[in-house]
Amino acid sequence: SLIIDTKDIKKSYVMGSETIHALKSISIQIERGEYVAFMGPSGSGKSTLMNIIGCLDTPSDGTYILNDHDVSDLTENELAEIRNKEIGFVFQTFNLLPRASSLENVALPLIYAGYGKEDREEKALAALDGVGLADRAQHKPNELSGGQRQRVAIARALVNDPSIILADEPTGNLDSKTSYSIMDLFADLHQKGNTIIMVTHEEDIAEYAHRIIRLRDGLIESDEVNKNVRSTV
Ligand code: ADP
Ligand code: ADP
Repeated sequence: SLIIDTKDIKKSYVMGSETIHALKSISIQIERGEYVAFMGPSGSGKSTLMNIIGCLDTPSDGTYILNDHDVSDLTENELAEIRNKEIGFVFQTFNLLPRASSLENVALPLIYAGYGKEDREEKALAALDGVGLADRAQHKPNELSGGQRQRVAIARALVNDPSIILADEPTGNLDSKTSYSIMDLFADLHQKGNTIIMVTHEEDIAEYAHRIIRLRDGLIESDEVNKNVRSTV
């Protein structure tokens, strides 16, 4: 069943007397459980599209149905509510709280979701275990390697059991070997049924995805099944 359905999405930015058409017409359908990579040159509209898919922003025109909710035209608060429930974000820069332990970082989304302390710790520990870091629960980010930090961030993205994992250049700050181990983790999460949407400008990283969508100038240039899915395990 469809988890993402966008119809003729447009996004324009008005800059003084100029209007920038960041997205001109984007229609994409993604099924539950797919693993999709978005590629495209700088300025092609990837961030703009990810912000809309991730419910951080709304389109200027067109419709976006996320997990059967029409999120095309919601208020900030409604959007935040859907976002917290449906989306697990993974960023290039990890975005962890520096003074908090791995466990506390992972438990953070559960505070907003209203879980009590015991439930939070139990769920956060299970999520850390899922990314192979149960033994690093009390470590702070600066006591972890880059790859371990990204694993903590992935555990945080997963802890609320989101409909979609949205990863923006998840390996952008990692060396190749660590990048591939993060891609192995994504492959594992995909195999377990998670829906993963990733933005990357690295071909060898995109090749881990099962479908590759390329943007150019605010339009879809190509949308293809990846017949040679890469794996390092
Ligand atoms: P954003 O999505 O944050 O608006 P970009 O997608 O343009 O920004 O780039 C994300 C990061 O990847 C930036 O640090 C940028 O410098 C880098 N980057 C983008 N495209 C390339 C490329 N073709 N080669 C090397 N680095 C790139
Ligand atoms: P990418 O992530 O592929 O680098 P973006 O989505 O960041 O592309 O940008 C697409 C186009 O929209 C670019 O021309 C960019 O300058 C413009 N743009 C993006 N965000 C804004 C904004 N907040 N205000 C004005 N123009 C923007």
